[in-house]
Amino acid sequence: MAAHMDEKNDPDHLDSQLAGIVVAQDRPLLITDADEVLFAFFQEFERYLNANGTYFNWASFRLNGNIIDQDTDEAVENHIVRELLGSFFVQHTRSIPMIAGAALSLQRLSRHMEIVVLTNIPHAQRADRAHALAAHGVGFPVITNEGSKAEAVSELAGRTTAPVFFIDDSPGHHTDVAGAADHVMRIHFIGDPRLSDLLGPAEDSHHRAFDWDEISTFIETHLERAGHEIRP
Ligand SMILES: [Mg+2]
Repeated sequence: MAAHMDEKNDPDHLDSQLAGIVVAQDRPLLITDADEVLFAFFQEFERYLNANGTYFNWASFRLNGNIIDQDTDEAVENHIVRELLGSFFVQHTRSIPMIAGAALSLQRLSRHMEIVVLTNIPHAQRADRAHALAAHGVGFPVITNEGSKAEAVSELAGRTTAPVFFIDDSPGHHTDVAGAADHVMRIHFIGDPRLSDLLGPAEDSHHRAFDWDEISTFIETHLERAGHEIRP
């Protein structure tokens, strides 16, 4: 018996996950983040923090340094932030609500394009994330990723000659994707208005959006200009 699993046969490995995704060569593609783009992550995570002896202080667009101990009013250490995040994903990924308009917009956009959800949560929660999406009528393929999204985006984007769009709330992902696949149209969207107010447009995005209606219109307008028929 093999002592370890070959990396390429590991179902969690990015190559294995990408191999399971089908993108037609002439079909537009939307690669979208999940937390804070499709799912109301901050709303739920804040509730979780408050129930676990901490609170978020809304000082800036980051978790490290902004999660405060209710007893000491001191920021908790980064390893505690990681533990809180990990236990939150285990307990709430299946039940987390969606951001207003996200499900309807994805259903509408899926008539014109392929949709792939590219999310940086632990692989162990991929099935829960897929379940939550399917429960809202948007059971599109889910890739769980770690760190930079550049490799996954450039690999998927390379499969089609049609326009490709990327949506994420984190500016760093826009920078990484810009470096690897600059032709991908990058939309910066932060679903929670309180969080959105803390941050300007991502430097390496093409467009900052403020709701899903705007995202749909932006994508459909771009597709029409590229010669794709958009049925009303
Ligand atoms: Mg996110």
